[in-house]
Amino acid sequence: HATKKTMADHLRKYESLFTLTPQRMRMIVEAFTETLELGLNKPNQIVPMIPTYVFGWPTGQEKGDFLALDLGGTNLRVCLVTLQGEGKFEISQTKYRLTEEQKQDDGQKLFDFCAECLHTFVETNTGEGAGQLKPGQSLPLGFTFSYPCSQERIDHGELIRWTKGFGAGNTEGRDVAEMFKKSLEKYQLPIKLTALINDTTGTLIASHYVNPKTKIAVIFGTGCNAAYMENVKNITKIEHLGIDPGAEMAINCEWGAFDSFEHEHLPRTKYDTVVDDTSNKPGEQAFEKLISGRYLGEILRLVLCELIDEGVLFLGQNTYKLEKPYCFDTAFLSLMESDPTDELLMVIGIFTHFFALETTLAERQFFRALAKLIGRRAARLSACGIAAIVSKMNYLDEGCSVGADGSLYNKYPGFADRVHEGLQDIFGDKGRNIVTYHAEDGSGVGSAIIAAMTKHRK
Ligand code: ADP
Repeated sequence: HATKKTMADHLRKYESLFTLTPQRMRMIVEAFTETLELGLNKPNQIVPMIPTYVFGWPTGQEKGDFLALDLGGTNLRVCLVTLQGEGKFEISQTKYRLTEEQKQDDGQKLFDFCAECLHTFVETNTGEGAGQLKPGQSLPLGFTFSYPCSQERIDHGELIRWTKGFGAGNTEGRDVAEMFKKSLEKYQLPIKLTALINDTTGTLIASHYVNPKTKIAVIFGTGCNAAYMENVKNITKIEHLGIDPGAEMAINCEWGAFDSFEHEHLPRTKYDTVVDDTSNKPGEQAFEKLISGRYLGEILRLVLCELIDEGVLFLGQNTYKLEKPYCFDTAFLSLMESDPTDELLMVIGIFTHFFALETTLAERQFFRALAKLIGRRAARLSACGIAAIVSKMNYLDEGCSVGADGSLYNKYPGFADRVHEGLQDIFGDKGRNIVTYHAEDGSGVGSAIIAAMTKHRK
C-alpha cells in the first residue's frame, strides 16, 4: 500500500511552485524594464506610465496649511497638514470607514460622501488652538485618489479604470476632479482643489522632502504601485505638449498592471489563476495579484482548500468557514510568520477562533511555511519591479533610497529584508546600494507638498 504523504512532503511541492530563482528574477527585470520604456513611448499601454504633471523635486522649503483627502482602498482619510519648511511638518487626521456598498454604488455618491467627511472634519477642527483651522480660512486641498487616472494637468484626471475591488458606477472614463468639485459645491466648503495626485506620487515627493536621497517610491498595501522622477525628454509620448525637455516630471507607473492579459513573464500558479478568474477584473493587475495585501491571504486559502478537497487537512471537521472567498486576511500570514512559540499558539488561535478548526503541530508548521513561501515570493517580485526602475535610471552605482509604504511593507515581518535579499540576488553585491525604508505619509503630507509646489508655480 502507498505510504501516506507527510505535511513536509506536501510542502516540497509548494516550495517548487512558489520559489523564484535569481535567474528567473533577472528575466522578469529585463521584461519589466522594456515594459516601462514602452509605457513612456506610447499612449495607452498596459503599464501606462502616467505623467503626473508634478515637476521636479520639492525644495524642502515648502510652507503653509493644506488639507489632504485620501481615497485609497480600505479607508477614507482627511488630514490637515502644516508644512514648516526644512523638511518638517505637522499633521492631524481622521479616518472614515468605507463600506463595500459605497465602493460599488454610484460614483457621484462616493464623492459626496468624501465631501461630507471633509465637511465634518473642517467643522470639528475649526478653532483658535494650534493645529486648528481658523474660522473662515480658505484652504488648498490635495486630493489623493489612488486609482489610475490620465491627466493633462495637475487638477484634472480621467479615471482609466477602478482597481483594488472598487467598481462605483458612472466614474470610469470621467474627470474625477470635476466630479469631486461638484460634491464640494454641494457642501459649500471654503476649499479649492489644487492637485489630484496618486498616493505613490505623494509618497515619492513626501519622502524626498525629508530624505533627498529618495529616488523611487513604492506602495505595498491593498494594491501595489511605484513612482519615480523621469526626464521629460524620455517621456516621448507627450512630446507634442512642448514641455521643456530639460525638466523632470514624476511618473506614476501603475506597475500593478505588469504582465496583464499576456501572462508571459510572471510565474503564475493555478491558485493565482483562480484568484484572477474569480476577481471582479479578470486579466487585469496581474503583477498586483501576486503581491498585494488584498490577495496573499486568498492565495494561501486556495492552497488550503485544495488540500481539504484532497482529504489531507481537517478530516472529519466542518471547514465551511474557511471555504468562504477572501475570509483569510493577509494579516493572518503576518501573524503566523511572527508566532514566537514552539507550539505555534498564534496559529492555533487563528484557526480555532476564526475558523473553528483544530490543527496538529505538523499542520501548523506547514501553514506557517506556506505563508513564508507566499510572502517571500511577493517580496522578491517587488524587488524585480524596483530593480527595473533602478536599471532604467542607472541608479545602481551611485545607489538610492526607496520610500516604501503600505501595510504589507510596514507590518509583514521580514518583508523589507526579503526585498533587499531579492535586490542582491538580481544585482549581486551592488544590490546593497538600493535601500528601502518606511516612507513618509504620501497621501497626506505628499499631497500637501504637491499642493504647495503647485501653488508656487502659478
Ligand atoms: P490601503 O492600501 O488600502 O491604503 P493598507 O496599506 O493598510 O491600506 O493595506 C491594506 C491591506 O494590507 C489589506 O489588504 C490587508 O489585508 C493588508 N494588511 C493589513 N494588516 C496587515 C498585516 N499586519 N500584515 C500584512 N498585511 C496586512
